[in-house]
Amino acid sequence: KEQTLAVIKPDAMEEHKEEILGEICASGFSITQLKETVLSRDVAEKFYIHHRDKPFYIQLVDFMCRGPCMLLVLTKENAVEDWRSLMGPSDPQLAQQTMPTSLRARFASDILHNALHGSSNQEQAQEKIQLLFGDITSH
Ligand code: ATP
Ligand code: MG
Repeated sequence: KEQTLAVIKPDAMEEHKEEILGEICASGFSITQLKETVLSRDVAEKFYIHHRDKPFYIQLVDFMCRGPCMLLVLTKENAVEDWRSLMGPSDPQLAQQTMPTSLRARFASDILHNALHGSSNQEQAQEKIQLLFGDITSH
């Protein structure tokens, strides 16, 4: 089966963690690895390195390290695409208009503080799982 990486971002951790975990399980994903952690600046910078030239990069890195995140490896057929569709669009305003039951429509505040991450393809998923879980995945 396919794996993807999901992250519950710091903005959603205090109020919405349990409900999001419930939705993940209800939608047929198996949680094969799980870790709650505060990302170091170095890891957060590497995690979003492909956005380093964007005007929001520093804000994004600051935000990702400001408190605990929940890191999850999700397993399911078609996991990458199904997780992105359960999250909904990056911008919660758009999410509310187009996918009102999606998790970002329900739990995100704005385009930066948007509650969740999901890998965009299988290659990125493996790369980010390696970055965040390191050796654990090769055991
Ligand atoms: P993610 O990669 O976190 O799963 P995504 O693939 O939907 O989200 P990206 O375009 O990869 O969106 O952007 C990465 C993250 O950067 C977004 O999730 C959001 O937190 C932030 N971001 C994206 N666009 C903007 C923007 N215009 N202004 C501020 N922050 C943004
Ligand atoms: Mg992305």
